[in-house]
Amino acid sequence: MVESTLGIDLGGTKMAAVLLSMDNEVMEMTTIPRPSTPAAMLDEPIALARSLIGDQVTAVGIGAAGLVRSTDGVMVWGPNVEGEEISFKTHFEASLDLPAFVDNDATLAGLAETRIGAAVGYRHVLMMTLGTGIGGGWMIDGAPYHGRGYAGEIGHMIVDVGGPVCTCGQSGCWETFCSGRRLDQMARDLVAANAGGLTAKLADGDIPTGRHLVDAAIEGDGDAISRIEEMASWMGLGIANLIAAFDPEIVVVGGGVSRAGDLLLAPARLATAAVLEGATHRSETPIVCAELGERAGAIGAAMFARESMQ
Ligand SMILES: [Zn+2]
Repeated sequence: MVESTLGIDLGGTKMAAVLLSMDNEVMEMTTIPRPSTPAAMLDEPIALARSLIGDQVTAVGIGAAGLVRSTDGVMVWGPNVEGEEISFKTHFEASLDLPAFVDNDATLAGLAETRIGAAVGYRHVLMMTLGTGIGGGWMIDGAPYHGRGYAGEIGHMIVDVGGPVCTCGQSGCWETFCSGRRLDQMARDLVAANAGGLTAKLADGDIPTGRHLVDAAIEGDGDAISRIEEMASWMGLGIANLIAAFDPEIVVVGGGVSRAGDLLLAPARLATAAVLEGATHRSETPIVCAELGERAGAIGAAMFARESMQ
């Protein structure tokens, strides 16, 4: 029997779970839709955990999108659960009779990418999860950085005062210009403007999504590529601001939108250099794709549980 920890990632739209061995091997992995009500936010992950846990599991890690207080394992604000504090740590420990540790999902994805993914060998890492919104996680001096608890809410840096209204209630947040949600809107607008284009063909009568737009761009469609380049310019603006503030050694981009790969990252690198203070006097900060894919948050959660026990 191989000793392991269980990691659960409650992302913006999906819930993933992995069993991770002590030498970081993924022994089992499951993905299901994210629960949509506050009650289900506890019941469904606990049911999922029960289905995977055997005698060999020593601890559970939980990553959740939103404001997570890792000190006592409480999520104070997040998608689908506005206004409700959820005591993940207390409920998981009581239900599973195992130690449980809770952190922000992007912070944990950054931990995983730094330990075994795209940022191995780096100590100062910005993890950017470009999914429904933008999640952020910092590794500073080789360890997750939390500030007082909520560091990394980079999607809600305001980049355009009076800009589009954000899900957080403010206006002009970075993720209103650069996110899966924005890409979905771009796909709908593109199809409305050009019903004969490739994005429309790929949507094939369904509501167009960012996935259709990215697929059209991958196939070389000029309209789709220009929308992705527009997003890349906003992406570069935010990354340049973060490099100016924290000077990370590397920026790792994960999340569903990152499947656009260099179609997005190449223009984002140029856009970053174009607005970064003293860019020509700095050594370039690589902006690279994540390597662990959709599993990063759950793997990081399992690692976090193990490292918290040590
Ligand atoms: Zn916001």
